[in-house]
Amino acid sequence: MSEFTLKTRLLAALEGKPVDKVPVCAVTQTGIVELMDKVGAAWPEAQTNPELMAKLAIANYELSGLEAVRLPYCLTVLGEAMGCEINMGTKNRQPSVIASPFPKNLDGAAVPADLLQRNRIPAVLEAIKIVREKVGPDVPIIGGMEGPVTLASDLISVKSFMKWSIKKTDLFEQALDISTEAAIAYANAMVEAGADIIAIADPVASPDLMSPDTFRQFLQSRLQKFSASVNSVTVLHICGKVNAILSDMADCGFEGLSVEEKIGSAKEGKEVIGDRARLVGNISSPFTLLPGPIDKIKAEAKTALEGGVDVLAPGCGIAPMTPLENIKAMVAARDEYYA
Ligand SMILES: [Zn+2]
Repeated sequence: MSEFTLKTRLLAALEGKPVDKVPVCAVTQTGIVELMDKVGAAWPEAQTNPELMAKLAIANYELSGLEAVRLPYCLTVLGEAMGCEINMGTKNRQPSVIASPFPKNLDGAAVPADLLQRNRIPAVLEAIKIVREKVGPDVPIIGGMEGPVTLASDLISVKSFMKWSIKKTDLFEQALDISTEAAIAYANAMVEAGADIIAIADPVASPDLMSPDTFRQFLQSRLQKFSASVNSVTVLHICGKVNAILSDMADCGFEGLSVEEKIGSAKEGKEVIGDRARLVGNISSPFTLLPGPIDKIKAEAKTALEGGVDVLAPGCGIAPMTPLENIKAMVAARDEYYA
């Protein structure tokens, strides 16, 4: 019998300690329609109701075999609590921000004193407690959320975020600081509720949107502050071809870096980050996990494992229409690799 539980293995793998086998899970969104139907917990209700939120999250551990429970399913919970207007989406579409509270200036912008009581934050904290009670102490819980950079752009709008990063850097930095403070408070509340790992997704920090120079000059220090202030193991996910900032990401203080297939191979990624952080990924969510076939999923998983990936996982959020069989194939590929 293994000396590891699912929790101790995942934490050890993220901390760079020796493990008997590479864990397989998702640090990005896990909700799929097939499981929503199977367990009777569908979006958008499962985005707001703690019982349903927990039920759907547990399904991906119990029925798909992913070795962690990850929740919730969007990047808008904190933004909503900070004043963004949200469209709750549909059964197969995630919630999204449709209006920003501070697009012109930051007059009156601050982290509200009652942040943790606002909107869906109590539901997420309650769902984490329900999951812990149902799965017991040995299954890791991953609390997912938008990162401080993405939150800042949600608060002031993407347009102002781009503009202020060049022309109004004082306001730009102020928005980042408010967001970082809010993100730390929310993350630590999730840890308090029972999350073992906090995984932030920060798509707006991607070189697809912000220049590597801006990342180094303004964004990196906020991400460093976040990882240093959150009382758990942390994972940083940034979408897209992040090669131009991958080395800088490795200096942000997160135990894990979650990347897409767009970086090239896991092997190349490992060479860049060295022992500064662990690599999580990088099975293509839209091009492999969603369409399959099973053989391709297994082949890509094997390449990632041979390349030295520390946690086998989808490269980005799992597409809601992904078949359950395909997620199971990723888990099976890991098992076959060690058989
Ligand atoms: Zn992504």
